[in-house]
Amino acid sequence: MILKEFLEDVSPKNSLLKTMYRTIYEHGPISRADILEKVKAKQTTVARFIEELLENGFIQERGLGKSSGGRPPVLYHIDTTKGYIIGVDLSRSHTKILLFDLAFNQIDASSVIMTFAHTPEQVFSYIIEVIARFMTKHGFTVDELLGIGVGSVGPLNREKGIILQPEAFLAPGWKNIDVAALLCKVYPVRIMLENGANTAALGEYTYAKVPYKNVLYCISGAGLRCGMIANGQIMHMRSGDANAYGHTVIQVDGLRCSCGNQGCLAAYVSFGYIIEEVKRKAGFSASSLLQDGQNKDSLSIYQIIRAANEGDHVANEVLMKSAYYYGVGIANLVNSLHPELVIVNSAIVYEVPSYYAKIVETASQYIYGTEREDTKFSPGLLQSNAAATGAAIMIFQSFLQ
Ligand SMILES: [Zn+2]
Repeated sequence: MILKEFLEDVSPKNSLLKTMYRTIYEHGPISRADILEKVKAKQTTVARFIEELLENGFIQERGLGKSSGGRPPVLYHIDTTKGYIIGVDLSRSHTKILLFDLAFNQIDASSVIMTFAHTPEQVFSYIIEVIARFMTKHGFTVDELLGIGVGSVGPLNREKGIILQPEAFLAPGWKNIDVAALLCKVYPVRIMLENGANTAALGEYTYAKVPYKNVLYCISGAGLRCGMIANGQIMHMRSGDANAYGHTVIQVDGLRCSCGNQGCLAAYVSFGYIIEEVKRKAGFSASSLLQDGQNKDSLSIYQIIRAANEGDHVANEVLMKSAYYYGVGIANLVNSLHPELVIVNSAIVYEVPSYYAKIVETASQYIYGTEREDTKFSPGLLQSNAAATGAAIMIFQSFLQ
């Protein structure tokens, strides 16, 4: 039997066998005695099912455990080479495709920067072509491909796998994109669509093995997106638009936002705001590194990051002000959602330590009550791979539920 068939079999007869597989996946390497304790079945049944999983090659013996007097017990682990999963991160700035084994080791990667030419047709033929390339290069077939998880910009129809009408894609045509149908036509495997901020939260949560069950994940770029793990599960909002967090108002009558309102958090933390602010202020500053010798029209966030790290006061001033607003916005979210851990992700967070420090300092200042001390902060560990990694994890977990 192939692994996919086994995982797709939802018959009651297969249920205990799958529970055992999941237990070995979650706790492996694990001994027979520990499996027995966790699945609460008869000893003879567990012994027989371990044999069956071994015969099919779904699990392997992986070393010996600690002896409690007698012979040390054999430990079992799932065979992580029995299947492959694709994770896709589809955002306004890039599309990234990662190939994983079942331990979520990254086997291959491909990505593209989104331009005015990246219509849905272009992007999906690129995704389809990259997957075909991965299959040839790494020698696997569609039978071994467990699924394709897509973390995307919303709003989405998660159940039907459709991207509805996201704002601000550079290329035209990004409206009602049936992701599930487009991919399934070529690769008839399990396809799941979820908010990229949510898959990133799941990716970071699973990867970091944090001892917290409630994690808020924030990523800024073209706008601000957030995802939430509540009680160890992705918290699903009704409409599935992770951008909405960015449109909470932090400054009544403040800056005009792309959504038409004024004073939204996104209006103060987006890369677009930072770039415009730097352009404006550098114009008045005789000493800014960004004042002369730069084509201001093409000023990028990476130039601003570099200037900040070289001590440019305009770049630093603008980043610190933006970080302050970001911190206030995060404090508001913490006061509403009560996460134990807040993960902050953005290119600036990793490159400019003082920007991240200012976000944490400000957020801590505005968090209410005892949670001020209790809430932990961390930059993302998976950085720009978080959304695609979490999308792949989502696929595997869906088989084990
Ligand atoms: Zn707004």
